[in-house]
Amino acid sequence: MRIPSDLVRTIRDSSNLAALTGAGVSQESGLRTFRDKLESSSEAEKPLWAQYKPEDLATPEAFERNPSLVWEFYAMRRLKAGEVRPNPGHIALAEIGQRAPHFTLITQNVDGLHQRAGSTDVIELHGNITRVRCTHGCGVFTEWIDSPGGVPDCPQCGAKLRPDVGRFGELLPHKELEQAVEAARESKVFFSIGTSGLVQPAASLALMAKQAGAVLVEINPEDTPLTPLVDFFLQGKSGEVLPEMVRRVWD
Ligand code: NAD
Ligand code: ZN
Repeated sequence: MRIPSDLVRTIRDSSNLAALTGAGVSQESGLRTFRDKLESSSEAEKPLWAQYKPEDLATPEAFERNPSLVWEFYAMRRLKAGEVRPNPGHIALAEIGQRAPHFTLITQNVDGLHQRAGSTDVIELHGNITRVRCTHGCGVFTEWIDSPGGVPDCPQCGAKLRPDVGRFGELLPHKELEQAVEAARESKVFFSIGTSGLVQPAASLALMAKQAGAVLVEINPEDTPLTPLVDFFLQGKSGEVLPEMVRRVWD
């Protein structure tokens, strides 16, 4: 993939960069995006929850209806996230963090792979699957609590615990959203990477950046609803495009 020279110059000359990442950046690590077909996994790998769409599991109602099924869905995703490794896309983003004068990384991912690749101060819009929290609001626990056969109880009040992950239909965490909006508005170049742009309000961050005058860059193997609006569409996998971009801009 060739990175256009005018983009290389623009990035070099920009004092402030921001990026929003989605499930696509972790796809090359072996984590499924929500749009990937489940058929791609072998029958032996298919657990009970696999017959549901993620959209039907990652909701407060689903947790009310069948807590242990939903818990199992998250427990498996957490296990899987722990087993895989950051890919060259995550590593390139961590490098941008070190080399650009000012770079804010905003993610919709809950897998923690950006941090494991070395990114710091990541704004996590949808939480993190390695943490749990009390459904009654006692707080967040950094340790996942395993509970064979059911949903664990809060060690403080006895209410059910839930993964510290945003679910469809829930508001985003206020502080993180505010930080993300500010970073988008202040950026001179805004990257939308590996996200389908279907999940709001994260999807509108790119538009806020554009309205504030940022150059928009999208990295995705496929078109998205954002594609017609971007200044540069770098069509390809983030694990290939991002390392090449870092090499061209900073080497
Ligand atoms: P999405 O599943 O809606 O879209 C993924 C996007 O990534 C698609 O546009 C796809 O074309 C693109 N993509 C696929 N492979 C890619 C690659 N190698 N490089 C770059 N792009 C690639 O994901 P979303 O937009 O993040 O929204 C879905 C929601 O699901 C998010 O809220 C997120 O929290 C959650 N989710 C997170 C994870 C994770 O943490 N790894 C995994 C699945 C879903
Ligand atoms: Zn509690």
